[in-house]
Amino acid sequence: MTQSPNDSISNSMAQETSRDVGPVVLLGPPGAGKGTQAKRIMEHYLVPQVSTGDILRYNVAQGTELGRAAKAVMARGELVSDDLVCEMVRQRLIQPDCKRGYILDGFPRTAAQAGWLDALLDDKLFDNSRPTRAWPIVIRLDVDYNQLLLRITGRRSCPTCGRIYNVHFQPALVDEICDLDGSKLVTRNDDRLEVIQPRLAAYQEQTFPVAEYYQRTGRLISVNGDRPMDEVTAQIFRILEDHHA
Ligand code: AMP
Repeated sequence: MTQSPNDSISNSMAQETSRDVGPVVLLGPPGAGKGTQAKRIMEHYLVPQVSTGDILRYNVAQGTELGRAAKAVMARGELVSDDLVCEMVRQRLIQPDCKRGYILDGFPRTAAQAGWLDALLDDKLFDNSRPTRAWPIVIRLDVDYNQLLLRITGRRSCPTCGRIYNVHFQPALVDEICDLDGSKLVTRNDDRLEVIQPRLAAYQEQTFPVAEYYQRTGRLISVNGDRPMDEVTAQIFRILEDHHA
């Protein structure tokens, strides 16, 4: 199965710090800022971001078997089947760069995926190669509904470096052009207004129970994602440091 764009960060990079972190699970509706915050955690702790949405989009763009299976479902704003996504995640987490931890962005998204992840971390689904076995630190970003709509409809990303912008809150210096590498920014296919509603409905129906599952087991930490981005990042870092202490 094709895995990029997050295949692995280089081992030399991972060795720059001895600090392990996570695994971290970032929960929250589309537009909550999971991708942005995951990238910041990744840069700070040098552990990889495992974004199921990014991996799926890459596979769609490459026309792989996985991408062909996922394309229509994603275009409708619905969730790809648990089996496909779990196998994709399993293959990603056995990569050596995940040994010190990783940030799951967009996974788990259903109760079945959350149960599968627990079993995996409990070592039931791995034979020889195993990822970090600690229980995940589950952080949910809570964001007001109207904010979410502005964030999703205004979202643009750089197809080259992956940097995320927002035309309302965090525009590029030159309109629609990436500050870092000059690429023309793109709008995700599923950020179109007609697809947003089913995506938010999928979150409410299928992913909200995931948060409840973690809450029941005392593992859910909620963060106010309406706060400015830097404040949200600072709070997440505090949570991770407290957890480590
Ligand atoms: P995202 O970038 O996380 O908003 O994901 C974009 C799309 O990819 C979603 O609307 C789903 O169609 C699909 N997807 C991403 N992660 C998952 C997952 N964990 N389970 C099922 N489908 C997913």
